[in-house]
Amino acid sequence: MTLLELDGVTASYGPVQVLDGVSLSVPEGGAVGILGANGAGKTTTLRAVSGTVRTGGRIRFAGRDIRGLRPDRVAALGIAHVPEGRGTLGQLTVRENLRVGAYLRRDRRKLAADIDYCLDLFPQLRNRIGSRAAALSGGEQQMLAVGRAFMAKPSLLLLDEASLGLAPGTAKTVYEAIRRLRVESGIAMLVVEQNANLAFTLVDTATVLETGRNVLTGTSAELKGMDEIRRAYLGG
Ligand code: ATP
Repeated sequence: MTLLELDGVTASYGPVQVLDGVSLSVPEGGAVGILGANGAGKTTTLRAVSGTVRTGGRIRFAGRDIRGLRPDRVAALGIAHVPEGRGTLGQLTVRENLRVGAYLRRDRRKLAADIDYCLDLFPQLRNRIGSRAAALSGGEQQMLAVGRAFMAKPSLLLLDEASLGLAPGTAKTVYEAIRRLRVESGIAMLVVEQNANLAFTLVDTATVLETGRNVLTGTSAELKGMDEIRRAYLGG
């Protein structure tokens, strides 16, 4: 069943329109990638879903129209956004950041077990549990940002450029953990990623954006096999 559906979504910052009719759908438990060059509108598409940019068109989540809802209402419906630049709270510790992630949750009984699951998913964080987020490496901050989003127990995770600024080995580790999270939790994911090779390790299908429109949509296997995708996004 479809969990999230965007149909002809437009978005603008003030007078500048940056999305010009984006359509995509994420099935329950599915993972969908958004690829495209800088400025194509990938980040804005995630912001359209989480309610942090002014939008037109149709956005449906779990059977209801969510376009125009305030970001806190969207989050309360079960959508967690891991923004580009991670958005962890630097002055708070790793444990505090994870607890903040759970603040909207009604069921708080499993908090300790879920924190433990995050630390199992990202063992590097276990030794840093009492450290302030600002003192973590870029990779650790990314891990914490994903862990914090998981703590909200969302049914959909919006993931923006989780590999940005990370060494290749670290980026791979982060994506492996997110893949494991996907398999074990069944959380659906909408994933913006510059590095298409990494994206294809996680997503089932992807759509390519160009100047705020979809130009191509296919399965990871189909897209990987296309010359123009290889040239533009796979460095070959
Ligand atoms: P990137 O990988 O560079 O983030 P992107 O595909 O995610 O690219 P967006 O960040 O969605 O692209 O940006 C789409 C367009 O909107 C770009 O031309 C960008 O300059 C513009 N833009 C983004 N944020 C704002 C803003 N707050 N105000 C005005 N214009 C913006």
